[in-house]
Amino acid sequence: MKIICIGHNYADHAREMSSPLPLEPVFFLKPDSCLLRNNQPFFYPKFTKELHHEVEVVIKICRLGKSIGEKYAPRYYNEVALGIDFTARDIQQQCKEKGLPWEKAKAFDGAAPISNFIPIAELQNIHAADFRLDINDKTVQQGNTAHMIFSFDRIIAYVSQFITLKTGDLIYTGTPSGVGPVNIGDRLKGYLEGRLMFDFYVR
Ligand code: MG
Repeated sequence: MKIICIGHNYADHAREMSSPLPLEPVFFLKPDSCLLRNNQPFFYPKFTKELHHEVEVVIKICRLGKSIGEKYAPRYYNEVALGIDFTARDIQQQCKEKGLPWEKAKAFDGAAPISNFIPIAELQNIHAADFRLDINDKTVQQGNTAHMIFSFDRIIAYVSQFITLKTGDLIYTGTPSGVGPVNIGDRLKGYLEGRLMFDFYVR
């Protein structure tokens, strides 16, 4: 399986990063060695001094597809989770300045904590779902999927022009504003529509 991540999909986050609003979805990949499941602790990597959280709604692909039409995209996902797109912001900045790829900053081991998946049918409306990240019981990021620049369906249509989507692939759909550093000892809790999805420590 593969993990596809969408960048700059919330206008307030693009603004805080001083990035122009994207005209098309921006995406990159993480390997499956990024996944951190079952609330296992995340071990702060030695190569960064500025590790940032990005809380994101994640959808799971449930059938094989290529060049999927946007109106058919809802058939391709039926479960949702909440995850973190951990980013070594200092390394990412160095990569950006040199015009290099971002893998060192985004694709390291454990860089994609993920909650359990729940059926989309359990949410009132996945296209207008509140989510948030609390660190040490203080809310640091909150968003609503209605504010995505590119919808779940648009993302699937766009990405599948380039990459075949397979059952079990995950799509991290972008983060709202409020990204910031995490520190050793922090406790991260993620909520989707008020429901606790993950709860883990940084060690
Ligand atoms: Mg992200």
